[in-house]
Amino acid sequence: MEIQDIICILLYMAASVFFIMGIKKLGRADTARQGNLMSSIGMAIAVISVLISQDVISGGLIGYGIIILAIAAGSVIGFVWSRKVEMTGMPQLVALFNGFGGLSSMLVAISQFCALKGGSDKIGTDAFTSITLGLTIVIGAVAFTGSLIAWGKLAGLKMFKKPINIPAKNVINAVIGVIAILGIVLYTIAPEDGLGLAGILITTISSLVLGVTMVITIGGGDMPVIISFLNALSGLAAAFAGFPIGNTVLIVSGCLVGASGVILTLIMCKAMNKSFASLLFKTVKKKSSAASGEHKEPKSMSIEDAYLILEAARSVVFIPGYGMAVAQAQHAVKELCDVLEENGCEVNFAIHPVAGRMPGHMNVLLAEANVPYEQLKTADEMNPQMANTDVAIVIGANDVVNPAAINDESSPIYGMPIVNAYEARTVFVLKRGQGTGFSGIENPLFTNDNTIMIYGDAKQTVSQLVVEFDND
Ligand code: NDP
Repeated sequence: MEIQDIICILLYMAASVFFIMGIKKLGRADTARQGNLMSSIGMAIAVISVLISQDVISGGLIGYGIIILAIAAGSVIGFVWSRKVEMTGMPQLVALFNGFGGLSSMLVAISQFCALKGGSDKIGTDAFTSITLGLTIVIGAVAFTGSLIAWGKLAGLKMFKKPINIPAKNVINAVIGVIAILGIVLYTIAPEDGLGLAGILITTISSLVLGVTMVITIGGGDMPVIISFLNALSGLAAAFAGFPIGNTVLIVSGCLVGASGVILTLIMCKAMNKSFASLLFKTVKKKSSAASGEHKEPKSMSIEDAYLILEAARSVVFIPGYGMAVAQAQHAVKELCDVLEENGCEVNFAIHPVAGRMPGHMNVLLAEANVPYEQLKTADEMNPQMANTDVAIVIGANDVVNPAAINDESSPIYGMPIVNAYEARTVFVLKRGQGTGFSGIENPLFTNDNTIMIYGDAKQTVSQLVVEFDND
C-alpha cells in the first residue's frame, strides 16, 4: 500500500467522524450551526483526500484542471444562489440539491461504465460492481427527476400543483421498474459490446421516467413523506456509487444521509398516520366538495376587537403554519407572546410535524426568534389541553388545522392527525384572504361558530396586536 493510500484512509476516517458528529449536532436547534460547520469541515477533508488520491494524481494536470473548473463552477453557482434565495424558497432549494445529489451519483455510475468499456484496470468487472453500478443509476435517476417534480410542487408551479392521475399507475410503474432491471441484466451479461451500452441507456431512461411517474401522482398533503423519501434515495444512490469506484467516504456519507432520510420518512408517515406503501401506491382521489351542505361565510373581526378578547384571555395557543414563514412573522409572534405573558396569560405553541414546507420548518423559525424550546409543544401534547384554551391563534396555518382530516372520509387528508384548534373556546385565524393550503382543499374550521378570521399579512396583524397592548 502506497503512503498516499494510507493518508487517504486516515482522512476518510476523519471526514466520517466529522459527518457523524455534524449530524448529531444538527438534531437540536441550538447546536445546528455547529453541526453544519462540522459537516462542512468533514466535506472539505473528503474533497482533499480525493484530490491527493493516487487515481487523481495519475490523471495529471488535465485531471486537476477539470476538477478545479468543476469545483469553481459549482461553488460560484451555490454561493450566488444561496445568497439570493428567500427564506420561503429554502424548501424548493433543498429539493433541488437533493435531486442534483441523485444526478451526480447517476453520472458517476455512467462514467464508471464508460471507463469499464474503455478497459480501465481500475474498474472491477465482476457482477457485484455491475449490479451496484446499475442500482446507483436507478436510485440516482429516480431521486433526480422525482426531486424536480417535488421542486415544482413546492414552488407552486401550476402544472405540478395538483396530483396528476395516471390510470393503472402501479402497473405502469412496475413495468418501468422491470425494464430498468432488464437493462442492468443486459450490461452485466455483455458489458463490452453494443448490448452493454443499450442496457445502460435503457436503465437510465426508464429510471428517469420512473421518478416522474412515481412523484407526479402524489397529492399535496402527502408530499412531506415523499420529500423525505427522495432525500433517503439521494443518500442511498451516493452510498451505492461508492462501491464501484471503491470510495469509502462516499459509502459512509451516503449511508448516513440514506439512514437519516429513512428515519425522517418513518417519522413523517407516523405524523400523517399513513403507511408508506399506502401513499406510494394509492390512486388520486376526487377532492371533497366543501360545497356540500349550506354555504356559510366566515366571520371576521377588527384588530381592536381581537385585542379586547386577547387582553381577557388566560391561556393562548399559537398554531403556526406556512403563512408565518411567508410573512416572516416569527419575531412579531415572539413579541406578542411576551406581552401576553406580561399580561398574566399562559402561552404555548402547538407545532404540527408537517407545518410549513420542510421538516422542522416552524421550530427553526421560532428558535431564530428566541422562543424557548420548552414552549414548543407537539400536537399530541397540546390537543388534550385545547378545550380549556381561551384563544387558539392560527398563524398562516391551514391544512394542519383542517377538521376535514377527522370528519370527512372523502377528504384527501382524511386520517392525518391535526392540531385540534377547533376545540378552543375562540379561534383566531390570521391569513390574507380565501387562499387554500398546500393540499388545495377548503377548510371548514373557518366557518365554525367559534372561529374569527383576522385578514391581512400575518406579520402586520400580529405587530398591530402588539401595538394595541403597548398603547394600553
Ligand atoms: P398551508 O400550506 O396548509 O396553508 C398556509 C396558509 O397560509 C394559506 O392558507 C395562506 O392563506 C396563508 N398565508 C400565506 N401567506 C400568508 C401571509 N403572508 N400572512 C398570513 N397568511 C398567509 O400550511 P400548513 O403549514 O397548515 O400546512 C403545510 C402543508 O404543506 C401541508 O399540507 C403539508 O402536507 C405540506 N407540506 C409540508 C412539508 C413539510 O415537510 N413540512 C413538505 C411539503 C408539503 P392566504 O393565501 O389566504 O393568506
